[in-house]
Amino acid sequence: MTILYPVSDDSGQEPVRGRIRIQTGPVPQPIPRSADDRAALHELRAVVFDIRDLSVYYGEKRALTGTTFPIYRNLVTAVIGPSGCGKSTFIRTLNRMNDAIPGFRIEGQVLYNGHDVYDTGVNRVEVRRRIGMVFQKPNPFPKSIYDNVAWAPRNLGLRSGLAERVERALRSAALWDEVKDRLRDSALSLSGGQQQRLCIARAIAVEPDVLLLDEPASALDPVATASIEELMHTLKARYTIVIVTHNMQQAARVADRTAFFSLDRADQVGTLIEYADTETIFRSPRDTRTRAYVTGQFG
Ligand code: ADP
Repeated sequence: MTILYPVSDDSGQEPVRGRIRIQTGPVPQPIPRSADDRAALHELRAVVFDIRDLSVYYGEKRALTGTTFPIYRNLVTAVIGPSGCGKSTFIRTLNRMNDAIPGFRIEGQVLYNGHDVYDTGVNRVEVRRRIGMVFQKPNPFPKSIYDNVAWAPRNLGLRSGLAERVERALRSAALWDEVKDRLRDSALSLSGGQQQRLCIARAIAVEPDVLLLDEPASALDPVATASIEELMHTLKARYTIVIVTHNMQQAARVADRTAFFSLDRADQVGTLIEYADTETIFRSPRDTRTRAYVTGQFG
């Protein structure tokens, strides 16, 4: 007998809607838990980014080479590795944020939902609307809290229901209760942690599909860091999140999957060393370089 039932995972969250797995036998089997099974379950999710043999150059300098891996929907994927290994270069390549840098070019492919982000004719504004980004240092505009969040929707002509949209974004960023009575105050009057959550609200106000976070908590104190990490757990139900972090504990706390990048010994070019579910990367990595990094022996 063949039973069709929704794919779940080990996160305790809702099953992945609309995807089914064929299971033979009269009774559905318990959800498997081994590392390989966890990886297999992740791999049943939709692929949002399919990165294929990606190399990135700044002029003559090759910053990243031979990087191939998928990024899955509604998971948090962390990118970790020593300074200079191309983490920031990589994440900024996903939404064409590096385009303005003279000499920047890529080889290979970045497929987003099956479409090459670097195809000629791709609308970069649309790419950045769907793939939002938050940077290391909170960078609110010197405008009111409300105008910061309303900025991108206004630019895109999304004027109807703007106040509701702003409220929704601020609620999603867990900031609404703290600012609802002072929406006209300057965003610069907020604390660093609040400013970073405002930047997250600004990014999600246009309802993107993906959130790219480039060391979003590295300029924040531990309390503000904890609230950003907590936020990621809720946001991943709606968004696919990619986070660059130099903080390994943070990757272990927030990420479902982790990509470890390092510098190739021979030519000192950044490259992907290992990619797996986060527990495997931290507890039983396959590569000795990953093990050395996560146990603090270098980096
Ligand atoms: P990470 O985020 O891992 O610290 P980066 O992506 O910032 O690494 O940098 C990877 C490499 O690319 C480094 O050697 C860095 O000097 C170089 N690089 C980064 N940005 C530029 C740029 N705008 N122009 C030239 N080289 C750059």
